[in-house]
Amino acid sequence: MISILGIPLDENSSFLRGTAKAPKLIMESFYSDSSNMFAENGIDCGDQSKFANLGDLQLPSENSAMNLIQKTVEKQLDQDHMVLSLGGDHSITFPIIQAYAQKYNNLNILHFDAHPDLYDNFDNNPYSHASPFARIMENNLVDRLVQVGIRTLNTHQKSQAERFGVEIIEMIDFNPEAVFTFDGPVYISIDLDGLDPAFAPGVSHLEPGGLSTRDIIRIIHQLRGNVIGSDVVEYNPDRDINNLTAMTAAKLMKEIIGKMVL
Ligand code: MN
Ligand code: MN
Repeated sequence: MISILGIPLDENSSFLRGTAKAPKLIMESFYSDSSNMFAENGIDCGDQSKFANLGDLQLPSENSAMNLIQKTVEKQLDQDHMVLSLGGDHSITFPIIQAYAQKYNNLNILHFDAHPDLYDNFDNNPYSHASPFARIMENNLVDRLVQVGIRTLNTHQKSQAERFGVEIIEMIDFNPEAVFTFDGPVYISIDLDGLDPAFAPGVSHLEPGGLSTRDIIRIIHQLRGNVIGSDVVEYNPDRDINNLTAMTAAKLMKEIIGKMVL
């Protein structure tokens, strides 16, 4: 069983607000009659026996939100449900992984993003959406972190990546034919700004020169490993054009679900 959880958290965004409105709109696109509910591998994402839509989490407006996110995900994992979370800003991935790491001691993360999100300290906010993967790595929550689509690596984050042994595939070195292989369970975290803004304009941090939608879908399809959870984050509806980014997020959800169920 896959639980789809909306996490409308926006307070750890550093530049623009708007991602709190995302989960509802992504779900509208997910169910939109303009497409159907099938993943490309033939899995029916409309099958109610396999998927539960939990709706949006009601979040308190303090740091206790992080606690609530972790506890909510834990509760799902305790029932042997897998969780597909919709952000919200990228800060939600840290408490989600805290929950996952309790269940899986050999977890891997495949992370799509324009940014490595490895800042030790950003705006004095330890939960900043620029820092979730620093928190995850400091706490030794995963065996491997593999980042794809990165095109903003500065000196500080490069040294953080070396310190934590993060495997970064920078955009400048990206090979669209690459196949990713993981031994243990794999969690997929998709920051929509990993895509080129031509494919996903509805994000707070436009960073041209990114991945195509097909690049990400292909990597998901070809991935060797057992996908046990995922998040799709950083959709900012205020910046979107014709719901393109919401539809893209919904499309990626279907392909992730197809992979998780297979
Ligand atoms: Mn990003
Ligand atoms: Mn990010």
